[in-house]
Amino acid sequence: MTLFDVVFSGNDAVYGLTEGAINDAIAKYGEDKAIAFPDTAYSLPCYYGVTGTKVATLGELKNALGVVKTLMTREKRLNDAFMSGIATALCAEFIEVLKYMDGAVPYEAPCYGHLGDAVIRELGVPLVTGDIPGVAVILGSAPTAQEGVDLVKSYQAQGILVTLVGGIIDQCEELGYKTGANVRVIPLGKDVTSVIHVVSVAVRAALIFGNIKPGDAAGLMKYTMERVPAFVNAFAPLNDVIVACGAGAIALGFPVITNEETFRVPKSLIVQKDVSKFNATSLEARDIKIKITHIDIPVAFASAFEGEIIRRGDMQVEFDGSRVDCCELVHAKDASEIEDHKIELIGPDVDEMPVGSKQSIAYVVEVAGKNMQADFEPVFERKFHSYLNCIEGIMHTGQRDMIRIRISKDAYAAGFRAKHIGEVLYAKVKSEFAAVVDKCQVKIYTDPAECTRIRHEVAMPMFDKRDERLMTLTDEGVDVYYSCIMCQAFSPSHVCVVTPERLGLCGAVSWLDAKATHQLDPEGPCQVITKEKVIDERIGEYEDVNDAVRKFSQGALEDVSLYSIIEKPMTSCGCFECICGIEPLSNGVCIANREYAGMTPIGMTFPELASMTGGGVQTPGFMGHGKHFIASKKFMKAEGGVARIVWMPKDLKEQVADRLNATAKELYGIDNFVDMIGDETIAEDPETLLAFLEEKGHPALTMEPMM
Ligand code: SF4
Ligand code: ZN
Repeated sequence: MTLFDVVFSGNDAVYGLTEGAINDAIAKYGEDKAIAFPDTAYSLPCYYGVTGTKVATLGELKNALGVVKTLMTREKRLNDAFMSGIATALCAEFIEVLKYMDGAVPYEAPCYGHLGDAVIRELGVPLVTGDIPGVAVILGSAPTAQEGVDLVKSYQAQGILVTLVGGIIDQCEELGYKTGANVRVIPLGKDVTSVIHVVSVAVRAALIFGNIKPGDAAGLMKYTMERVPAFVNAFAPLNDVIVACGAGAIALGFPVITNEETFRVPKSLIVQKDVSKFNATSLEARDIKIKITHIDIPVAFASAFEGEIIRRGDMQVEFDGSRVDCCELVHAKDASEIEDHKIELIGPDVDEMPVGSKQSIAYVVEVAGKNMQADFEPVFERKFHSYLNCIEGIMHTGQRDMIRIRISKDAYAAGFRAKHIGEVLYAKVKSEFAAVVDKCQVKIYTDPAECTRIRHEVAMPMFDKRDERLMTLTDEGVDVYYSCIMCQAFSPSHVCVVTPERLGLCGAVSWLDAKATHQLDPEGPCQVITKEKVIDERIGEYEDVNDAVRKFSQGALEDVSLYSIIEKPMTSCGCFECICGIEPLSNGVCIANREYAGMTPIGMTFPELASMTGGGVQTPGFMGHGKHFIASKKFMKAEGGVARIVWMPKDLKEQVADRLNATAKELYGIDNFVDMIGDETIAEDPETLLAFLEEKGHPALTMEPMM
């Protein structure tokens, strides 16, 4: 026996039954007797979808069976098996519709049988948003009732819509497991033919949402394959009829996973002997990614806790990267190296650490995905700060190998342990980066020697490599920039143009971030902007950038330069990290950051300066920007670059000193440029500042007048 023989024989058996049932019905009611499923505009939806013909009477049903017969070719090509599978499904629909004859109510609780169109329309939105990430069809009896219920439960916890056919329904009842459409577990019926009621849902989804024309069988199968994330779990023992139905499912693009040793068809008919692995195998086969909403930790997780501070006296234990070896890392790996949701602790748990002690920790989040790129590693990693801070009773500061984490005594008492850090990172990475992360596992090291090894041998080389990549990422070196219109929610005409050397003014969107955002959500806020048509190299003006800005600002903005604060400067929304403004006396600019509360030599404080720009309009002479932009070689390039910076708050100066000094050295050959820049301890008025700049020989004094 080959798989073909089994499918054909199952198909023949169902066909025979169908023919008998139709003949019996005609004998009893006559050919003109009306037949239809209730609550649908599509008559027999599967038959209508495949052939474009609406069946209304028993006589028409008999003719329809003749059409089905034409699908039952018996060559041994794959297509014949698929078509026999479809024919089996259509026969099942015929058998089922006969149950509804004469206004009968064939199904009783807990079974649903046929599902009305309204149910499908209701499913539309959650399916589109991914709230329902998939549809499971469970068929037959699990080896034990408990295993069956566990499987149902596992899908339910993932938001997957579960439909049940056959013995599994009794198994759920046996253990008192609640079913119903309201909990997304729908028992269809106990006969195998009742599986058609879920197929009917998929077919109507194509007709309702997919604009597939009835009769366009190829289009229909393409739609269900590409858009309906359904799969079948069929328990042993399988018979010919089940296998024939399975061929129909496969024809629609729904993989079948079974625990019976049977024929295998790569990616479509998959043998998984271990029922507890049905879930993972099914999701992988159908390429379903789960958006996790619930995180399995003993304390709350909410953005409300992000700013929570844990004082020394309140902490159970502290991981301190400034004293011992610590680090956090995202590492892209091959899918074969990763077991999804594996969370491993290497070293002692918090229980074994003295209260109030300083400890080492290194956590490595390993991810794999077909669309994953090494460029996304730092993008994910930077989010860890926010993820861990959202945990009630956990405080996280810093990044890379300079992190500090405190676990509060309360969180510890509630049961929070090292592995829960992994749970949170796993859950967030999987849900927020679902488009590129297929699998994720977390290794948490607390063993000091291991932390040292991970930090120095694994993390640092990776950080160095990334820094090198960032250094070589220049505006000239890339083919495209990105727009960001995230802030249009409150600043309707604002557009950030994000380039490798000019990050978004909020400081949160680098070119790599924008690239990742675009990849994660191609229709989203970050769009590709080409830069092929240079208008003016000096100020960084491009025809294609202007076109994009015009489009994304809905015409509010005509043209914009990337490198000038005076000529067509980029707009600001209002959430900039820093603002710079011209200081006429010294022929330069002063920069103030949001945290700075004092006066600037311009005669304005940060809030006053900030009020000069914003709302998505261009204001020559003032410009909002990110902190990182300060040391960029493109900062005010049109006006002569960073040599124009004459004043910054001391704090900000310290933050950018190393990079800014390096840039000034490279551009002008100046050593320790930052020492030439004034701050509030030196001057808060233009005259005192000018005297200081003259004493230092600041380059701005000898540059061309700015205005
Ligand atoms: Fe996007 Fe940041 Fe610009 Fe807002 S400020 S549009 S978030 S890059
Ligand atoms: Zn903004």
